Amino acid sequence: MSEISHTASKFKRFLPKKAIVMASKKTLNKEAKTETKPKPNSLDSLDKIASDLSNCKRCKLCSGRNKIVLGEGNPKAQLVFVGEGPGEQEDLQGRPFVGRAGQLLDKMIEAMGMKRSDIFIANVVKCRPPENRNPEPDEIASCSPFLFRQLDALQPKVVVALGKFAAQTLLQTEERISEIRGKIFPYRGSKLIPTFHPAYLLRNPSSKREAWEDLKTAMKEIKK
Ligand code: URA
Repeated sequence: MSEISHTASKFKRFLPKKAIVMASKKTLNKEAKTETKPKPNSLDSLDKIASDLSNCKRCKLCSGRNKIVLGEGNPKAQLVFVGEGPGEQEDLQGRPFVGRAGQLLDKMIEAMGMKRSDIFIANVVKCRPPENRNPEPDEIASCSPFLFRQLDALQPKVVVALGKFAAQTLLQTEERISEIRGKIFPYRGSKLIPTFHPAYLLRNPSSKREAWEDLKTAMKEIKK
């Protein structure tokens, strides 16, 4: 069995049956041609970023938070997932994607033939928006520089942007996630591939087949 079909069989556990057949027929999108920004020669480090974020009061999200969720994973990761912001469990534990959406993300990572310890997970905002509302523009503006610094320090081969907020923040676009998912964008020396957020996939399981196509695109880019 090829590596991809082996991992695809793992992904079947949470794919709707009809989608499994359709997924294999879909072709890849063309790679975008221009780089948005040059790759920096950064001396920044994850430790320095964490220390700059400690006790952060740069936006109003600080008032309701329990823990800042810095992000976690392998500092040498070739693959970084970027989510939106912490939910209830993440805020309590100080770790990204440990709630229901995180369980689905774990399955996605496993289906890609990887473990959490192979990759890095970060978010656009590091503190939980109240009632899990969307992060607001001023909050994203305050917090996203820390995400940019994390990605510059990590310099992964591939960044998978999970959902609208990650994709739009990193690509500085207002395009809908349904328009840009699965495409490959140059991002500061990395390849950025937007896909649906796991929380959206929990509500819309029929979109899992498209998400799986996007993850396969990411896997191919990692292997290049
Ligand atoms: N959703 C996100 O976008 N990030 C998390 O860390 C958890 C849920």
